[in-house]
Amino acid sequence: MLDGAEGKTRAVGGIVRDSLMGRLRPDTDIDMATELLPVTVMQRAKAAGIAAYPTGIDHGTVTLKLNETSVEVTTLRRDVETDGRHAQVAFGTDWREDAERRDFTMNALYAGPDGRLFDPLGGAGDAINGRVRFIGEASQRIAEDGLRVYRFFRFSASHGGQRFDPDGLSACRAASTRLDHLSAERVGSEMMRMLGIPKVAVTLGVMSEIGLLPLERETLEALVRYETLGGQSAPTRLAILGGSDLDNWQVSWRLSKAITEKARRIADAASLVADEKVALGVYRFREDAIEGLAAAASQDGWPRERLMETARELGRLPNPDLPVSGKDLIARGLKAGPDLGVTLARLEALWVDSAFDLTKEELLAAALET
Ligand code: ATP
Ligand code: MG
Repeated sequence: MLDGAEGKTRAVGGIVRDSLMGRLRPDTDIDMATELLPVTVMQRAKAAGIAAYPTGIDHGTVTLKLNETSVEVTTLRRDVETDGRHAQVAFGTDWREDAERRDFTMNALYAGPDGRLFDPLGGAGDAINGRVRFIGEASQRIAEDGLRVYRFFRFSASHGGQRFDPDGLSACRAASTRLDHLSAERVGSEMMRMLGIPKVAVTLGVMSEIGLLPLERETLEALVRYETLGGQSAPTRLAILGGSDLDNWQVSWRLSKAITEKARRIADAASLVADEKVALGVYRFREDAIEGLAAAASQDGWPRERLMETARELGRLPNPDLPVSGKDLIARGLKAGPDLGVTLARLEALWVDSAFDLTKEELLAAALET
């Protein structure tokens, strides 16, 4: 669709790297680079009946929607000047220049429409060997954009087996105290992507050691144990990391309300489970209770037997139904209507707070007290 005499278009970044490494995920976002100007991309897409949005037109990015997949098409560009946060760019037609302004050699791989690999910086070998290497001089690339420090750790965890390229690591270490000015959102987004990587605890430990993450030793140990138990959920890791301080993390990483709420539910379920109030945890937090169990076991370093026993208990527990229904209340003389729902909710809260101890009769008696 985008192909034509006046300019090439190629896939770039994660999709090329991951297909080369044999680890393509079905939900990988697709990035493309093109010689075409953004207006031409918009026109071509519209002519082909594809929805196109100028999502970052100043930076030359147009987003195409193909069924469920979105494809970001960015015109080749080069940096004109940068203040370490925002780059000024100009459009160009030089593929090597486009490659050189990317972050790591493994991220500067392209594939043309015929599937042919274009690898101007030798990134294919690094991808295959899991080497996360900065393009050019690491400290200079970090001075241009400090977020690359976080990306270095993220890719070293996801694509480098948590081995760190020595040059990259020392440049990150040197820069770690000078990253305060970074946008909280960009850092938060990298961090949340990082927290979803299956094996990441060693990396978080290194980040903490060089002063990038304020992690207590116990927190780090909990994160290691969580991984040993096979856990790999980002919100659970956030719950372990944030503990009772989730609000602060939400602010300092500008996290979405949804993700913070999920972590909070897991943290709350974890404290109930740790207090042996497993049934209550299941009732209140439903599907989050199992993650709460994993978090509690990781935080408190449970012996295996306790974990197994609690997991069995959790699996056996039905989600109890409130022993009182609207019909019961009407039979006792309450009127049908919205007030009935309010009363039922009040009874449910009482019942949960009693750890399901109140009987039907006791609940009905409570219903009549107003
Ligand atoms: P993932 O599979 O995690 O999405 P990705 O390589 O596609 O990996 P993205 O964050 O989607 O990573 O970025 C797409 C591409 O854009 C990267 O492969 C890289 O070439 C380039 N890129 C992204 N962020 C930066 C940055 N801060 N500095 C330089 N290049 C970057
Ligand atoms: Mg991507």
